[in-house]
Amino acid sequence: MNDEIILLKLGELVLKGLNRRRFEDKLLSNVRWRVAPFGKFKVYSKQSTVYVEPLEEGCDLDGAYEACKCVFGVVGLSRAKSCEKDKDAFLETARTYLGDRLAGAKTFKVESKRADKTFPMTSIELSQYVGGELDELFPNLSVDVRHPEITVNLEVRDYAGYVHADPEPGAGGLPVGTSGRAVALLSGGIDSPAACYMVAKRGVELELVHFFSYPYTSNEAKEKVIELARILTRYCGRMTLNVVPFTRIQEEIRRSCPEGLFTLVMRRFMMRISERVAVRTGSGALVTGECLGQVASQTMEAMGVTGAVCSLPVLRPVVGMDKEEIVETARKIGTFDTSILPYEDCCTVFTPKHPRTRPTLEEVAEAEQALDVDGLVEEAFQGIERIKIRRMEEE
Ligand code: ATP
Ligand code: MG
Repeated sequence: MNDEIILLKLGELVLKGLNRRRFEDKLLSNVRWRVAPFGKFKVYSKQSTVYVEPLEEGCDLDGAYEACKCVFGVVGLSRAKSCEKDKDAFLETARTYLGDRLAGAKTFKVESKRADKTFPMTSIELSQYVGGELDELFPNLSVDVRHPEITVNLEVRDYAGYVHADPEPGAGGLPVGTSGRAVALLSGGIDSPAACYMVAKRGVELELVHFFSYPYTSNEAKEKVIELARILTRYCGRMTLNVVPFTRIQEEIRRSCPEGLFTLVMRRFMMRISERVAVRTGSGALVTGECLGQVASQTMEAMGVTGAVCSLPVLRPVVGMDKEEIVETARKIGTFDTSILPYEDCCTVFTPKHPRTRPTLEEVAEAEQALDVDGLVEEAFQGIERIKIRRMEEE
């Protein structure tokens, strides 16, 4: 019934021994989670290839294939058609299954892999037979073993044969969860979702934090952040969003601190609270969408002053990107259109008219003397609402 499967090629997993096992296991569990909404699949690996096999009628293979394109750790993916383990069945399947692509190409080659050693031909013999016949069947084609436009792959496996063509590029990177966990500060803007994508790509699992200043920022603003998080699950996998009540802190800052330092003091509170979340969730770093030179709060001095309140490393993966590059990334991962919805963020609520761009640690620390910093952090931390983010396909 289901004679088509998905093949995933693993990248960067050139590691040995235990590490390799751990990487593959993470990748398999990530793939399983991603394809689950599209039906029942068997997901397993053999020789650096992950097989995604539909187990029932009605599996949405197109959907699963698209989902696999976003799984980090996969460098290439293709769909394969199964057939009988017989030379003419291989030929017929290649002719029909890859017909359109073969008809549109000028050069090709056939490559065979033989896992089933009882198969009566060697892999070279099988390639030569099928290649020779295809060459005759498609007058447009000639064999080029060095730089073929299309490579026809034939696999003689234990239970069946498979036919597939060149893989499409996958998402690359490392399987999410293999590089530990970090807390990402997710605003409703363009930059922080791109930052999440970039650290997830290097194998980091994310716990999300959003600072919410109701009623200065609306419920729509919160829904927008939840939606961004949902879109990110395609790449980042399972996540929990910590919504931190931030109104009281912002009002206290406005009441007690010099206006030019509002943003800086506020951002220091964000870092402190995020670090508390990191400790609770066993996370080893904080992630922000800060970029150098975009706004007053993103000078090197400002980063120094905000980073000074926490001892965990602060990762700023978009720091070296131009705005256009960040926008391009946001478009690619599908967050851009949601990010530009016009709901205000807490950062824009009490924006000073003349923010200090070159603050010193001393003046900011002094400004905070007027506040019960520990008490405010504790209260906000206790008030956190934890929201489990659903997959894009759910609901
Ligand atoms: P973004 O496009 O991500 O909103 P930005 O260019 O608007 O970034 P800022 O407003 O200075 O820059 O925020 C810098 C970073 O601080 C954000 O990328 C994000 O990581 C974090 N941040 C800002 N506001 C919030 C918020 N309300 N909740 C969580 N994190 C926030
Ligand atoms: Mg912003």
